[in-house]
Amino acid sequence: MVRYVYDFHEGGRAMADLLGGKGANLAEMTRLGLPVPPGFIVTTEACRAFLVTGAEPDGMSEAVSRHLSALEAGAGRLLGQPDDPLLVSVRSGARFSMPGMMETVLDIGLTDESVLGLAKASGSERFAWDSYRRLVQMFGSTVMGVDAGLFERAMEMLKEIRGVSDDIHLETSDLAELVDVYKNLIHDETGQDFPQSPAEQLRRAILAVFQSWNGERARLYRRREHIADDLGTAVTVQRMVFGNLGADSGSGVAFTRDPATGRTGLYGDYLANAQGEDVVAGIRNTVPLTELEGLDPKSYGQLREHMLTLERHYRDLCDIEFTIERGTLWMLQTRVGKRTAEAAFAIAAELIDEGLISADEALRRVSGEELARLMFPRFDTSATGDALAHGLPASPGAAVGAAVFDSAEAVRRAAAGEKVVLVRQETTPDDLPGMVAAQAVLTSRGGKTSHAAVVARGMGKVCVCGAEELTVDTHARRFTTRGGTVVEEGAVISVDGSAGAVYPGAAPLVDSVVMRYLETGLRDERSEQAVAPVARALEQADGARRLEVRANADTPEDAARARRFGAQGIGLCRTEHMFLGARRKLVEEMILADTDVARDRALDALLPLQRQDFVGILEAMDGLPVTIRLLDPPLHEFLPDHTDLAVRIATTEAHGDLPDPHDTALLDAVNRMHEENPMLGLRGVRLGLVIPGLVAMQVRAIAEAVVERKRAGGSPEAEIMVPLVGAVEELRIEREVVERVLAEVSRESGISVQCPVGTMIELPRAALTAGRIAKEAEFFSFGTNDLTQTTWGFSRDDVEAAFFSAYLDKGIFATSPFETIDRDGVGRLVEIAVSEGRAARPGLKIGVCGEHGGDPESVHFFHSAGLDYVSCSPFRIPIARLEAGRAALTGTEASDSR
Ligand code: ADP
Ligand code: MG
Ligand code: MG
Repeated sequence: MVRYVYDFHEGGRAMADLLGGKGANLAEMTRLGLPVPPGFIVTTEACRAFLVTGAEPDGMSEAVSRHLSALEAGAGRLLGQPDDPLLVSVRSGARFSMPGMMETVLDIGLTDESVLGLAKASGSERFAWDSYRRLVQMFGSTVMGVDAGLFERAMEMLKEIRGVSDDIHLETSDLAELVDVYKNLIHDETGQDFPQSPAEQLRRAILAVFQSWNGERARLYRRREHIADDLGTAVTVQRMVFGNLGADSGSGVAFTRDPATGRTGLYGDYLANAQGEDVVAGIRNTVPLTELEGLDPKSYGQLREHMLTLERHYRDLCDIEFTIERGTLWMLQTRVGKRTAEAAFAIAAELIDEGLISADEALRRVSGEELARLMFPRFDTSATGDALAHGLPASPGAAVGAAVFDSAEAVRRAAAGEKVVLVRQETTPDDLPGMVAAQAVLTSRGGKTSHAAVVARGMGKVCVCGAEELTVDTHARRFTTRGGTVVEEGAVISVDGSAGAVYPGAAPLVDSVVMRYLETGLRDERSEQAVAPVARALEQADGARRLEVRANADTPEDAARARRFGAQGIGLCRTEHMFLGARRKLVEEMILADTDVARDRALDALLPLQRQDFVGILEAMDGLPVTIRLLDPPLHEFLPDHTDLAVRIATTEAHGDLPDPHDTALLDAVNRMHEENPMLGLRGVRLGLVIPGLVAMQVRAIAEAVVERKRAGGSPEAEIMVPLVGAVEELRIEREVVERVLAEVSRESGISVQCPVGTMIELPRAALTAGRIAKEAEFFSFGTNDLTQTTWGFSRDDVEAAFFSAYLDKGIFATSPFETIDRDGVGRLVEIAVSEGRAARPGLKIGVCGEHGGDPESVHFFHSAGLDYVSCSPFRIPIARLEAGRAALTGTEASDSR
């Protein structure tokens, strides 16, 4: 018999798959002896079953009844008991935290009758009616599907009539009136009445939470965070405790460290006389948590102690919800908290020093994606001028964009390629599409734990919240600063999420100190706080990793930069750009040549230029391998555009002149060389086989560059890489040319030039016949860009814009296969090629030089596939180093804070 319900006493943190993060952590806190209101959890398994069949699985409702009875027995009251009702909350909570994405209903058990009992038992009529109106509102929107805005409008209207700004100033009779208004609203909208049976309320709330798993905003959030769609949510049913019982009650959120910087201390917000959802919603202004000390020193002291207990126990930053009911502290939630990239590195380093975690564990806790965020530029505050406003630095980074005032506008403009900043009083989960589309989020209300702040941090989006100096008018689509400056929709503003400031116009940017350190090794006192934890993590990663990290670099400058970033060589040196610019003329001559003599003349002119290119790169990478790829793209890419040529000839003729014979010859060549599918046409090794002089020239340039470097006392390590091989015969023929030229140059110079010759594996046929190809190749390098194109039959330039968003929406893939390696398809080809290649040639050196070489998830795959190195763009090198180190740690798990 499957078990669908667990009491808090029966669960624990390790059961998060089954009980959801929230439920599992409530159980864990219960086990630790912290004051948690009792309750039970309906499992994710029950949810999954419900979502498949549309009905509660067998035995679930009986189990819920049994656990409810136990809860009632413990409380000495029945759910909704008329004279003294037990009330419960029904809370959602999946394996991975999805803040605010699903539904929670508080105060279940109140009815027209039990509200009177609650008033009597608590001694507060106001509190009873406040709780009832909250229930009717939450139940009406979450369970019965009434637009939440209708309830809010009714509340706003009443506040206006009564001339009060805060719900806290409404009278008991007002709240009772609101309950009636809400009930009528529900009836008008749904044709049904708000249910007066507590048992029915509970049952329907549980099912509504199940259903909220498939709500639109939850689905959108999951797609963004790469959380699987089939996990389902657990449901926690918990005895209510009340923060809205008067001035000696309240609710708050707390962090054991600053989630923005990682610094230790007490961070959070507190709101007196409020239920938990008020704190995050930002409907009233919270006070900093430290002020609780003055309000309720006993609870404050206990809270500090519990926070310490939790941090020691979880060995990480914890994020906490609590409520104080008439001077008694209750813990309502904890989880390993989300944090900024800067805080992630800082906390990891500090926890090592505190002896709570090992250096390996610290490395697991940071990611390449976070490192990438720290490498972004920031605003140059010496040049920004006066800020329009200040707010809370909720999520760091610098962003510039046009101010927009609703989610739809943000989406619309972003789709048209414009950069936007979403400006709201506060955000709700309905703003999620706009937040995804925006560069930054700016709100005039809410604390560091408001919806805007939490979601933006999770996305790594810049966010300033609680900028109270701003009056945001979403209807008129503008905001006004305290000084009276008006910023209309479309005006460009700059948002500094690290400092919590907003500037007019596009503020100038400066490089990040982390980037400066990575590039130059420079450290100083001012930047040490940000730099030291990163340096430490990279050192740990470099010690742990098996994968080497090389760079894709085509110029001496890029090569030198890559080396400063820690590259251990060049994995891909493209030669095509060496044929552009002024050299284009020579390439044209080579293509147009109708005799061997004419072609050789053009190639001879190119040779010394190419040689100098290679000398520079080999010098910058002296002592490290440089893999040079022979010319790859189709030759017509070096010729002028067909239309340009045709127009030029036609205009000349229209003037009655004779067209330039060179132009006519070029146009002929362009027409002759036109291909329907250039990606699959005359390119790569095929070029070398058709125009052998071209390969010979390139190889000679490489070999002579090696000679020159050796004569200068250097240690050049050139490797020659043949692109787009599909059959071993192609490589064999090309290789003969390569070896002949290497032998010639060795003979001529008296210096032995030996370059390993290898091939790219970028066609499925190459991967499938890798065993044969390995006989002729001294190394393999996976060209995963082309391999992805040819495996899927995608032409990247054509498909990405055309239909990838539809594919992502339909869940055909979770990320573009051009960003993260497609393990099942392309990855399978990689695995085949590795195993058959190494079987044919033991010790075969294998790397990857596609863009995937710098993608964190792909790096983990390449590690486990047994590659020797990844090669990526210079700026991705630190990220690849970090991830290669993480990949080498055993037992890597997804972190809870995800
Ligand atoms: P979310 O996942 O959106 O944070 P929660 O389930 O945590 O939703 O609940 C929303 C708010 O209601 C939180 O502030 C929480 O602390 C509060 N809350 C939940 N259960 C209870 C309870 N039993 N008593 C008092 N407040 C509660
Ligand atoms: Mg919560
Ligand atoms: Mg390629």
